Amino acid sequence: MIYLDYQATTPVAPEVAKTMQPWIEEKYANPHSPSRWGNEAEAAIEVARKQVEKALGAKGGSLAFTGSATEAINWALKGTVEKAPKGRNRIITVATEHAAVLDTCEWLAGRGVDLTVLPVLLDGCLDLDLFERELDERVLLVAVMMVNNEIGVRHPVSAISDMVHKAGALMMSDAVQAFGRVDVCKGPDLIAISAHKIHGPKGIGALWMRKGSEPAPLIHGGGQEQGLRSGTLSPMLCVGFGAAARLADERCTLDYDHVQKLWNAAVHALGPGWIVNGSVGHRYKGNLNIRREGVDAARLIADLRDVAFSLGSACASGSGRPSHVLRALGLDYRAARSSIRLGFGRYTTQQELVDACRRIAAHAVAQEKLDA
Ligand code: PLP
Repeated sequence: MIYLDYQATTPVAPEVAKTMQPWIEEKYANPHSPSRWGNEAEAAIEVARKQVEKALGAKGGSLAFTGSATEAINWALKGTVEKAPKGRNRIITVATEHAAVLDTCEWLAGRGVDLTVLPVLLDGCLDLDLFERELDERVLLVAVMMVNNEIGVRHPVSAISDMVHKAGALMMSDAVQAFGRVDVCKGPDLIAISAHKIHGPKGIGALWMRKGSEPAPLIHGGGQEQGLRSGTLSPMLCVGFGAAARLADERCTLDYDHVQKLWNAAVHALGPGWIVNGSVGHRYKGNLNIRREGVDAARLIADLRDVAFSLGSACASGSGRPSHVLRALGLDYRAARSSIRLGFGRYTTQQELVDACRRIAAHAVAQEKLDA
């Protein structure tokens, strides 16, 4: 199989699997137990926490492990609303955010939060003047992602954070697709990340919180993670996340340059007739979301069973609904249904990517002929 679905998840790095191994088989003590083995597990978790914090590069706060980025986002949004000062009841977000943000915001709106979902421009970027005009003294929280999971478009989250702070509000950013791939923007008060997008294990994410901006707990129980997120931590998952973060930090330039080369090779191999969805300039190049007039993307995916790529986001693909992100760019139903997302990275070879792109292009042309 040629795996081109790096936005959905990434292969676990061999170094990560090796680091996790002893914590699966031999080292099973509860990290919150006072025994020597418990202490050893706790120490390993703290090393992992430092590794993730270092790779993230955010200063003046702390990082709590969660079960996923989805949980971290739910916690950031709901827990901030829970602690809202009087008079601040408004959340601003963007139409192209991940469902973890949009659905949580809608849920909060159903409970009285005043929600504004801003549109994007045709290239997926935010109109910053429009954004700034929306900021007022009622805004509690702004949620803008760093790199979009469907179209790879990057938002200037540092500049946005400055505007948000001037308005006296808090800034939350979903950095799931940015962390380990591009420089994580400085400025947000709350940052959500996930291990499985950086060659780590599934089932673990984290929320970084600026000191003083910690949301109220979402999960109550044993008081782990400074009383903010209860539940026994998994040493195996934490050390896996730590190892993946360390590796991403060490290899950041290498991985980034590799991805730029892969993008160029893929665009060349696809040939003419394809349009890139979303800005090319403001983009993480490991995400090639493209469309072609007349192509039935679902049929293309079914025809090329040994190439793993996707219609948009993994969630949108599963639901059969056309992607909300592509529709936010102004694409009609037909154009959205003729779009595919190729996601590649560290372990993708240029040869396999070029092979896959040539086959995708050939099948698209064959479809056109058949339908003509
Ligand atoms: N946010 C973005 C941008 C994502 O791409 C994803 C995963 O698809 C998530 C949030 C959710 O991450 P997790 O799978 O850790 O819940």
